[in-house]
Amino acid sequence: MTAGGPVVVIGAGLGGLSAAMRLAGAGREVTVVEASDVPGGCCGTATLGSHRFDTGPSVLTMPGVLADTFAAAGQDMERWLPLRRLDPYYRLTFHDGSRLDVVAGADAMAEQVRELSGPEEARRYQRFRRLLGEMFEAEWGAFIDRDMTRLRALARPYALARLAALGGFRRLDGLVRRHLTDERLIRAHTFQALYVGLSPRRALGVYAVIAHMDTVGGVYFPREGGMHAVPRAMAAAAEKAGAVFRYGVRATRIETDGAGVVAVRLATGERLAARHAVVACDLVRAQGRRGGDGLLPEEAADWRLRRPRFSPSCLVAHFALDRRPEGQAHHTLHFGREWESTFAALEAGRPQSDPSLLVTCPVNHGPDNHGPHDHGPGDGGPAVLSVLEPTANTRGGADWTALTPRLLDRMLSRLADLGYGDLSATPRLVLDPPAWRRRGHSAGTPFALDARFTQTAWFRPSGAARRVPGLHFAGMYTAPGVGVPPVLISGRLAAERILESAP
Ligand SMILES: Cc1cc2nc3c(=O)[nH]c(=O)nc-3n(C[C@H](O)[C@H](O)[C@H](O)COP(=O)(O)OP(=O)(O)OC[C@H]3O[C@@H](n4cnc5c(N)ncnc54)[C@H](O)[C@@H]3O)c2cc1C
Repeated sequence: MTAGGPVVVIGAGLGGLSAAMRLAGAGREVTVVEASDVPGGCCGTATLGSHRFDTGPSVLTMPGVLADTFAAAGQDMERWLPLRRLDPYYRLTFHDGSRLDVVAGADAMAEQVRELSGPEEARRYQRFRRLLGEMFEAEWGAFIDRDMTRLRALARPYALARLAALGGFRRLDGLVRRHLTDERLIRAHTFQALYVGLSPRRALGVYAVIAHMDTVGGVYFPREGGMHAVPRAMAAAAEKAGAVFRYGVRATRIETDGAGVVAVRLATGERLAARHAVVACDLVRAQGRRGGDGLLPEEAADWRLRRPRFSPSCLVAHFALDRRPEGQAHHTLHFGREWESTFAALEAGRPQSDPSLLVTCPVNHGPDNHGPHDHGPGDGGPAVLSVLEPTANTRGGADWTALTPRLLDRMLSRLADLGYGDLSATPRLVLDPPAWRRRGHSAGTPFALDARFTQTAWFRPSGAARRVPGLHFAGMYTAPGVGVPPVLISGRLAAERILESAP
């Protein structure tokens, strides 16, 4: 018999897995209910013949957050999920033919900048890099790695003043332009706004921390099994700590009585008794409004979800290659010529006229990789190439049956121009906004709510239902937000609230 009442976690995405690992590690009785047959959610996997693809994130940032999660489950991440740091972190190519490799180390990176933009800009870059570090320090503990359900009424005047002084409440574009002058470097440090669903002109300067996380903190990749190895290892570690997984079944209803959560009902009709539930899936859908599935009780309705503003979506084409293109970096961002207009088109729900393409060609492991295994990318298996183009979500009302083939044709010709050859006959797997919607994502976007001010921190859907004791939320719909480190943190915060509350 474990201490405390049973907990049901709904969703084995990275947010739910993070909560489950911590709760099981603390000795709680945990059942994870996952609609799909595998863990991972957005950090998913797909196959095409003998080729395997990662269908979600292609890299890992801030591995320390993940290592903490393993440690909380009593496990050593290095044993379950050895990682390698990528070199370069990523490659940026510009329409004028120049390129910038984002590499480890302040001096080495300043040298790259000097080669691209000259010594003056390299000095400016070094000052800007220090600012990124200060901003990260000011933000991480005070706002990102913090439980906003407890701070709702609590202003943090010193931290806010510090962030304001660093420029965190200016617009990202303006902030970066105050420090850097080469348009290419400015793009290199503002495109990350798209990760939170906004253009650099709309995103707040605080989101410069994303550039800090990947350009300074570094970018990692599992030594075996691609990114999908992350949720697999998390699920295995949670099981080892005692969590029970129920795959291939949906949770349909959270049952409550006057005192809070009492059970979770499954599509099979089963009823899992629960003292706490952690809902770690699409909250717009769960809330039951506008075509939702009514998983949550009425009294859990969150006003912040009344008029959700969704992030843009993406079109991803995964190609099954014969061999890896020579000299290709793991991660390459090919910027288009246009910039402002591409974001304007996205925001207006129109296709971009000249999109930037994110190309991932998972690294081979080389001689330091040992042991046979059966996964594809990143393990010496058949080579794959994944190409992501940002697009509008399905709320834009586009006719995707006509638009997807057009965008794909344009992508193929752009890839040919970029030197990837003619991929038109190469077997491929395509995920467009309607495909994301079929996978259960509201508005056909796997990036949830955007991070405009009114959907950030205190204003993002809460991590706990105020009027339903025992009901908690994790994942990208809650604070801190979208992305691997943030959803891992949201799971930790949910677990901590449960562990600190009365059983
Ligand atoms: C193409 C792509 C690229 C990305 N790139 C990056 C990147 O480079 N860096 C980065 O940090 N992040 C990236 N992300 C974002 C990151 O992957 C996500 O923010 C994160 O994985 C979301 O995790 P989650 O647990 O919140 O939700 P999800 O992954 O959506 O998990 C929710 C889970 O709940 C399950 N579920 C839903 N309803 C029910 C129900 N009723 N009952 C049972 N189960 C249910 C679903 O099947 C799913 O498994 C990317 C995402 C995508 C799609």
